[in-house]
Amino acid sequence: MTHRSRWNLNRRDFLTGTAAGTSLIALHPFSARAASFQAHLRIMETTDLHVHVFPYDYYSDRPIDTVGLARTASHIADVRAEARNSILLDNGDFLQGNPMGDYIAYERGMKEGDLHPIISAMNAVGFDASTLGNHEFNYGLDFLLKSLARADFPIVSANVIKERGSSPVQDVTLLKPYTILTRTVTDGSGQSLPIKIGLIGFVPPQIMNWDRRHLEGKVQARDIVETARAYVPQMKEEGADIIIALSHSGIGAAEATDGMENASVPLAAIDGIDAILTGHSHLDFPGPRYEGFAAVDHEKGTLHGKPAVMGGFWGSHLGLIDLLLEQSGGEWRVISHSSEVRPISKRNEDRSVSALVDSQPEILAAVARDHEETLAYIRRPVGKTLAPLHSYFALVADDPSVQIVSIAQKWYIAQMLKGTEHEGLPILSAAAPFKAGGRGGPEYYTDVPAGDVAIKNVADLYLYPNTARAVRVTGAQLKGWLERSAGMFNQITPGQADQVLLNPDFPSYNFDVIDGVQYQIDLSQPSRFGPKGEPLNPDASRIVNLTHDGQPVTDDMEFVIATNNYRAGGGGDFPGAMGDTTIFEGPDTNRDVIVRYIVEEGTINPRADANWTFKPLPGTSVLFDTGPKAAGYADSVPGVSIEPAGDGPDGFARFRIRL
Ligand code: MN
Ligand code: MG
Repeated sequence: MTHRSRWNLNRRDFLTGTAAGTSLIALHPFSARAASFQAHLRIMETTDLHVHVFPYDYYSDRPIDTVGLARTASHIADVRAEARNSILLDNGDFLQGNPMGDYIAYERGMKEGDLHPIISAMNAVGFDASTLGNHEFNYGLDFLLKSLARADFPIVSANVIKERGSSPVQDVTLLKPYTILTRTVTDGSGQSLPIKIGLIGFVPPQIMNWDRRHLEGKVQARDIVETARAYVPQMKEEGADIIIALSHSGIGAAEATDGMENASVPLAAIDGIDAILTGHSHLDFPGPRYEGFAAVDHEKGTLHGKPAVMGGFWGSHLGLIDLLLEQSGGEWRVISHSSEVRPISKRNEDRSVSALVDSQPEILAAVARDHEETLAYIRRPVGKTLAPLHSYFALVADDPSVQIVSIAQKWYIAQMLKGTEHEGLPILSAAAPFKAGGRGGPEYYTDVPAGDVAIKNVADLYLYPNTARAVRVTGAQLKGWLERSAGMFNQITPGQADQVLLNPDFPSYNFDVIDGVQYQIDLSQPSRFGPKGEPLNPDASRIVNLTHDGQPVTDDMEFVIATNNYRAGGGGDFPGAMGDTTIFEGPDTNRDVIVRYIVEEGTINPRADANWTFKPLPGTSVLFDTGPKAAGYADSVPGVSIEPAGDGPDGFARFRIRL
């Protein structure tokens, strides 16, 4: 494989490490083992880059060591230095997923001939091929095709089609379904041998739901396994010596089911596929996360005995498959293999993060202008809010910082459920204040004044990179969910003054407010659950007057609740959210949903609607502490009367509520 000069490093480079970053150069055993007519081929994978080139978190506007293709590129340089024969492949989801991607899509735009920054960076790194991930479709087909036009490498995708044929090989595909690269590898005795490497790409067919508004009537998606079964024999006939599947799909069940999203295991079982690059799940493989999966060896890194890898996300890892190939009778076959992932950073015992490699300067240079423009973009207004977005009273009243999250989540889930069996059910939304003082201190609150909203403000509204989910629950589960939230408060004795309201052991991120229903919390009752969700008083009920559209909520009513992957998957142990009620698993982060909502609406008005309040307890008052800047807003909190009550400890301000 000699078409790029950087592969022709001589032996001295290995020994001195001049071509490498900071990690140690060591030859893989296959390089020493390869005999005559045997070749050591290294397959490198990046996946789910999501436009991360600089090691920078654009939401919080500061450098970060856990992301960036410029860093992964140091591992790539090392591998190239270690190996005679290597190939670099990207597994999709490169075009969307951080504010740089949004900046290009929403602000700068893509004209014919424009160079998208991630494509610019990938060209500079020198990829051999890529496939499409589901997020490539987020900004529409026109944007996608203009972006791909400047790639210096082929991009393959077999199961996104413009016209359906009688079998997949008869389909008219959006891009080339596969490519066969003719390369020369150097064998163990130093002679050059030709090899044809077949590359075929797959994306979850769920793109048709997730990006319906961009795709309906324009393209369709085929089942991954069905498509592979049809194309692999054709690739073999065309002379592919080995076939690598670029599977933008996770590692899931071993049994194929029609239209499955995470199809990499059944895909690996297909005869003729020699190695599988996986992704989409933002995890690393081989690794302990996949212990116990059927047909998966999580230590060796195999699916059905075939080498596979998943290189994390955002450039966090380089995935690496080493093959020892042997040519006999004119045919190549894999005689040995290994898989590994190489992280770009490590987490220390004190939870701090250290970089393991430096950025490659020429990769940073390739997107330096785009980086500067993105910094300007995140710092300038992209929309306006008519209501101030603050969280000072998020634990004691309906609150604008939580309201905006719920408004955006409901807007998104309504689009996603269109045309499904769940359309027509009432859509509620659960959201909790993430920045609400507590152990974070008296400054640890969201506080965006009315007026301009910038992208970096959105990080403040939604701290975690969760993804959007919807669950379908009964009225009984909905009530249980709210009882779990109401564990935030101490039990209050009616008729007594100045009692402490908040339970300091209850984290604010588990105080879900559910928008779309009306309810009161009766603080005189004991909590049904403890701070970690443990049952305390199974018969207790703090949630009273729970209504939807003016009608009392009954146990057998049904609702959709928009939430996030943490909650829907059982995080916090909420009734109705134990992992078995999920009806929609979004590919989009809740943060992206909020950005999209603000950009599309222009002006937002997330005024709290006081859909929840405390039940009045005459002659009773409670005290709580919040940030001192809350004083400016205390008069305007709906549904509750709040008065200053002096100073709290550690710089907090104290307030009183008369129930
Ligand atoms: Mn992804
Ligand atoms: Mg509300």
